[in-house]
Amino acid sequence: MNYYSTSVTNLIEELKRLPGIGGKSAQRLAFHIINMPEDHVLHLSRAMVDARQKIRYCKTCCTLTDEEYCPICSSPKRDHSTIMVVEHTQDLAAYEKTGQYDGVYHVLQGTLVPSLGKGPDQIRFRELMDRLEKEEIRELILATNSSLDGEATAMYITKKVKPLGIKVSRIASGVPIGGELEYIDEVTLSRALDGRIQL
Ligand code: ZN
Repeated sequence: MNYYSTSVTNLIEELKRLPGIGGKSAQRLAFHIINMPEDHVLHLSRAMVDARQKIRYCKTCCTLTDEEYCPICSSPKRDHSTIMVVEHTQDLAAYEKTGQYDGVYHVLQGTLVPSLGKGPDQIRFRELMDRLEKEEIRELILATNSSLDGEATAMYITKKVKPLGIKVSRIASGVPIGGELEYIDEVTLSRALDGRIQL
């Protein structure tokens, strides 16, 4: 039965498509939005459309950004000879919050998923190899999650990169097994980075 008007029901249905939003949360958010001043609602919807339309992948590190090259790749203050490989832009953000890392990144936009046959062509792996061929890289730090897929990805990259004579290291344990990097506190992340192990 349709308790609400069509527009409210539509709003609830759209909100329910977001991750972590169940029926009750969607309903609560919908009524919150309906009661917001109209200009707030306009700002919110415009911010969503703007973010979606302007977003693209950095031409160097493949992170999500508004520009052709992201602020980190464009910065002369960063050490461009050290690349940290992470799964997602959120992981990059987590390391940036520690303030302890001054190198650059490469964002794979996922991992290998051997159990589902997801291979290197489905992540930004080719782009990484291109960088290693073109740029002077001293160290590659593998900071994929310590999940099965994250480990498989780190192993695969190590196998491909070591023959190039580039130092490869893996962030230390301290990052819990199966831990999603973006949820781990900054101290633990800094420690994991400091204690990285050369492979
Ligand atoms: Zn970049």
